[in-house]
Amino acid sequence: MQVYFDNAATTPLYPEVIQKVTDVLEQYYGNPSSIHSIGRKSRTIIELARKEISSYLGAKPQEIIFNSGGTEGINFIFHSAINDLKVKRIITSKIEHHAVLECLPLNQKKIDVQYVTIHSNGLIDLDSLEHLLAKKKTKTLVSLMHVNNEIGTITDLKKCGEICAKYQSLFHTDAVQSVGKLSIDVKECLITFLTASAHKFHGPKGTGFLYIERNSGIKAQISGGGQERGLRAGTESVHNILGMSLALKLSYQQLDQNTNHISQLKTRFLNRLKEIFNDLIINGIENNEQLGLPHICHVTFPIPKKKAQLLGFKLDMKGIACSQGSACQSGTPIGSHVLDELSNDSKDEFPSFRFSFSKFNTIQEVDYVLASLEEIANN
Ligand code: PLP
Repeated sequence: MQVYFDNAATTPLYPEVIQKVTDVLEQYYGNPSSIHSIGRKSRTIIELARKEISSYLGAKPQEIIFNSGGTEGINFIFHSAINDLKVKRIITSKIEHHAVLECLPLNQKKIDVQYVTIHSNGLIDLDSLEHLLAKKKTKTLVSLMHVNNEIGTITDLKKCGEICAKYQSLFHTDAVQSVGKLSIDVKECLITFLTASAHKFHGPKGTGFLYIERNSGIKAQISGGGQERGLRAGTESVHNILGMSLALKLSYQQLDQNTNHISQLKTRFLNRLKEIFNDLIINGIENNEQLGLPHICHVTFPIPKKKAQLLGFKLDMKGIACSQGSACQSGTPIGSHVLDELSNDSKDEFPSFRFSFSKFNTIQEVDYVLASLEEIANN
């Protein structure tokens, strides 16, 4: 049996999306910038996709910029915020994705970088955000992720946006793990910039989008033919954009149904896991859909080191795909910078794993993984 429980790393495509991408590759090969009718056909479908995507976020179509995904979007916003918007300070958290954290040292000479406090369960302490903003008045970009990719904790974007607005701060959210899984209204949450990536919601890889609030003053980081309203040059990836827009549509159409199904999987998985492993440590939020995404389940297994070393390998041998350590990073099971910030004293002694679910997973798969874990633990 093959079980894919690594959906926070990437997701399988919806079959409808594969079909769509293929159809578009075949039928819409024109360059959207060409003025003849074959080019204009491609332009039309891109603009329809932009409209569709914007409608799910409460944005205007012209506020959506297509790009290659999360890493590019985050780099774009950070560099432009500093170079063009003259931001002098960035406030973020130590549990952000590396796409954010690795952007920071580059700029540290020019700007002040400050970190909000993280609660022991991984939630961001928004009082500490307000405290930092109130303490020093300078042009600031706040960048806080919506859902943490390792432990699934959810940041209250509305509250965060209100605090940022109160102190006239720009607000960027890395929503790579939440778009397509949680409802987001960028206007209601007073978000200035939002980053998303199609491969996390059953769309194609290497494709994503940025929400950039109108008149934000952001400038191009990639120059050339003036595509994407002059903000991101390069011929648009028409098939991927159409695949992404369909993936988002399907995700939001089935949102409640998918969330219920995935919550059931997580509850069954965790309840049984606690029976198999006494002293199991659950990293993040156990069971609260307001505070933790049901798609992500991060645990530390209290098992002897000798068994722990081979756990990942044995799961793989049984056809089970999940993540060990901070495996969003090139698959290397190195220590997790996120767990370092939580009050998990056992993280260095015992192995930690992330199991992440999607609508395509089943109860049978959950039971198979549980039986496999039990067998490995008892041998
Ligand atoms: N931000 C978060 C929270 C992520 O989980 C990821 C991907 O793992 C990224 C950013 C990077 O996105 P992409 O793979 O589209 O570059």
